[in-house]
Amino acid sequence: MFAIYLECSKCGEKVDRGQKAQLCPKCAAPLFVRYDLDKVKAAFSPKKLSDRPYNLWRYAELLPIENEANVVSLGEVVTPLIALNQLGARLGFEALLLKDEGLNQGGTFKSRGAALGVSRAKELGVRAFAMPTNGNAGAAWALYGAKAGIRAHIVMPKDAPYITRLECAIAGADLYLVDGLISDAGRIVGKAIAKNGWYDASTLKEPYRIEGKKTMAIEIVEQLGWQTPDVIVYPTGGGVGLIGIYKALLELRAIGVIKTLPRLVAAQSSGCDPIVRAYEAGKKVSEFRDNSRTIAFGINVPKPIGDFLILEAIEKSNGTAIAVSDATILRAQSELACAEGLFVCPEGAAALAAAYDLLQRGWIRPDEKVVLLNTGNGLKYPETLNVNPPLLGKDDEIPV
Ligand SMILES: *Cc1c(COP(=O)(O)O)cnc(C)c1O
Ligand SMILES: [Zn+2]
Repeated sequence: MFAIYLECSKCGEKVDRGQKAQLCPKCAAPLFVRYDLDKVKAAFSPKKLSDRPYNLWRYAELLPIENEANVVSLGEVVTPLIALNQLGARLGFEALLLKDEGLNQGGTFKSRGAALGVSRAKELGVRAFAMPTNGNAGAAWALYGAKAGIRAHIVMPKDAPYITRLECAIAGADLYLVDGLISDAGRIVGKAIAKNGWYDASTLKEPYRIEGKKTMAIEIVEQLGWQTPDVIVYPTGGGVGLIGIYKALLELRAIGVIKTLPRLVAAQSSGCDPIVRAYEAGKKVSEFRDNSRTIAFGINVPKPIGDFLILEAIEKSNGTAIAVSDATILRAQSELACAEGLFVCPEGAAALAAAYDLLQRGWIRPDEKVVLLNTGNGLKYPETLNVNPPLLGKDDEIPV
């Protein structure tokens, strides 16, 4: 285990990694796990991975678990990196790829964050945690929490995808709905934590979820033969995925596994685009996006706590931020299914729509290798689609 301490992402304050740490004790910014990268460099080599299990735990040198016995696993898999040959050719991309996070347990990449977050919480002796969620994170943490024997207290907007309620409930979590947004759920959770002393598992308020999400980037690099793509497009809500991808890329570069960074793109819905607005205005932080609303529920985050980190990842990687309308998202979702047979979530469809927009603007060149993150399975969002096939009587014929 090569983690050495936690470090504030803003002021650099160091915190003992053995603590049940939350935000920076000095400035309340998110804490990051720091590794002794010289030692990782000496210990890690792609060749060593060949006899390890094919899941995120194979990157142990860059993960924060001290004792393997504390690993809480629900059978993680390396998700496929699929070439979108037909759709790519039609749209004008020569190398368009999609990493399909819909194949994770629970159907979204949130299970990566929960795998690391819950495992480390168990290692630190956490007995109960609480979190606000737009649905998928709460579901993943409830399920991993159940396996770890840790009590989960979860608050989600009443409009969050219905299935995520069921996942929390079936796992025995203590679940509440709120008539509001994730920011409202966050306020309620904050009060409950102050009163009950639960571990705060909110986005970026504990340092380990991001360590799970960053494995998306390590997998992409390994799946491309330890090469980086030119561009990675990520549907951005709270931004942990993007911040994690950037963190992993810096770590891989520091240990000499990669040399160049892909340009990172934050895709948002025009109904909730605080990062795009901040990026376009040249600001370092975002402003609360009033009346935020989008069918891509996982990216409906009006004011991400890690906004400055998202903007930094975009800027330092020469990336960009771009918003697409919900109508465009729905069209992209259907095109992916019709051309490639992939039923992606609306958030994943937003990444495709954003990439296409950037191609048309010339920001992406046709010959560049572009990786889209499909963050979840379309099966989790039946309520965003509406189809009414003709109803036949038992003796009717198919009209031709
Ligand atoms: C949470 C979520 C996102 C946004 O992820 P962040 O890393 O918090 O920006 C995107 N898509 C889906 C399906 C999600 O559940
Ligand atoms: Zn700090």
